[in-house]
Amino acid sequence: MSLIRILKNAFLMKCPKCQQGDLFESSSFGYGKKSFEMPEKCPVCGQTYMPEPGFYYGAMFLSYIMTGFFSIFFMVVVHWVLGLSLVNSFIILILILAAFFVFIFRFSRALWLNMMVR
Ligand SMILES: [Zn+2]
Repeated sequence: MSLIRILKNAFLMKCPKCQQGDLFESSSFGYGKKSFEMPEKCPVCGQTYMPEPGFYYGAMFLSYIMTGFFSIFFMVVVHWVLGLSLVNSFIILILILAAFFVFIFRFSRALWLNMMVR
């Protein structure tokens, strides 16, 4: 399983086995009732999306690491390169993270599942 395929599946939020079934019930990264819900298994090939209890615990660390690096990168660019004040930079960062909250949650789950399932 190549890295490119893992990343592509994670970005498109597709099943790691058949690359066709959707990992989440509602599409896009919209906020709604079903933002965080996943079907129990792939509607196309039947691959389970919950291989073991607590499986997505690891996805939490992925999202933590990704958010951390993004925040550092963002602050360096906005505060030091663009010269915005520290307070304004933080406000913008928080707004961006809030807007992408569902996407980050879903992406880290999709990435984790795609990394673990062959
Ligand atoms: Zn599938």
